[in-house]
Amino acid sequence: MTFAAKILTLYPEMFPGPLGISLAGRALAEGKWSCDAVQIRDFATDKHRSVDDTPAGGGAGMVMRADVLAAAIDAAVPENMPLLAMTPRGKPLTQDRVRALAAGPGVAILCGRFEGIDERLFEARAIEPVSIGDYVLSGGELGALVLLDACVRLLPGVMGAPSSGDEESFESGLLEYPHYTRPAEWEGRTIPEVLRSGDHAKIAAWRKSQAEIDTRSRRPDLWERHVGARVQSPSGARQKKEE
Ligand code: SAM
Repeated sequence: MTFAAKILTLYPEMFPGPLGISLAGRALAEGKWSCDAVQIRDFATDKHRSVDDTPAGGGAGMVMRADVLAAAIDAAVPENMPLLAMTPRGKPLTQDRVRALAAGPGVAILCGRFEGIDERLFEARAIEPVSIGDYVLSGGELGALVLLDACVRLLPGVMGAPSSGDEESFESGLLEYPHYTRPAEWEGRTIPEVLRSGDHAKIAAWRKSQAEIDTRSRRPDLWERHVGARVQSPSGARQKKEE
C-alpha cells in the first residue's frame, strides 16, 4: 500500500524538497509513498485570487480565509485521510502519533502562513491542530516536511534493518542511549570498556542505564512520565515512586 501525503500550501514548490533525497527520496521513487502538493490559491474565487484578509478585531498581519481553505479541503482531501493543520497552537507532535499515522493510508497537511487560519475552519471540518515545537516558524511547510519525514522512515521497507527503529528515542518512553564508533581512541577519549567486552547482557544493561541517566537530566518531563507509567501496578493501584 502506498502512503499518500497530500499537502495544502501556498508554496507547492517546497515539496518534496529535502524529502526527495536519501531514504525518503528513494522510497518516493520506489512508490512506497506519494507526495501531492495542492496550491490553495487555486481555490480562491475573486479576480485577485485572495487567500487571506485582515484580522477581525484589528491587529497586525493577515488571516487565511476559511471559505478558500474549506474549498481546497473538500476538493482535495479524501474522506478516509486524517487531516492535520500545522499551528503553534496545536498539540505537540509525538512519536506515538507519527507511528499511528504511518500505519494508516496517509495524511493530509494544511500549511498555515501569515498570522494563521480563521478559527471557524477548525469548527467546521475535522482537523487535528499539530505543533512541531514551542517556537514560531514563518509557515507550516517546514513542519509538514518534519512530520512526513518522521512518518516515511517508519514505512515498511524504508529503513535498512527492520529493527533499527525499535530502540530509538521515545519508543520506550526514554531517550536512546549514546553511540560510539571507531577509532577506539579519539583526542584522548576512549569508547566505554563495556561496549568492547562482547558481553551482550552487560552491554544491554549499560545502554539501559545510560538511557535513563540522559532522559532524567535532559528531559525531566519524559522521565516523570516514564517513572509514572512504571510504578502503575497491573491492578491499577499506585505504588511508591522510585527516588
Ligand atoms: N500568529 C501565530 C501564533 O502566534 O500562533 C503564528 C503564525 S506563523 C507566523 C505562520 C504559520 O506557520 C502558522 O499558521 C503555522 O502553519 C506555521 N507554524 C509556525 N510555527 C509552527 C509550529 N511551531 N508548529 C507548527 N506550525 C507552525
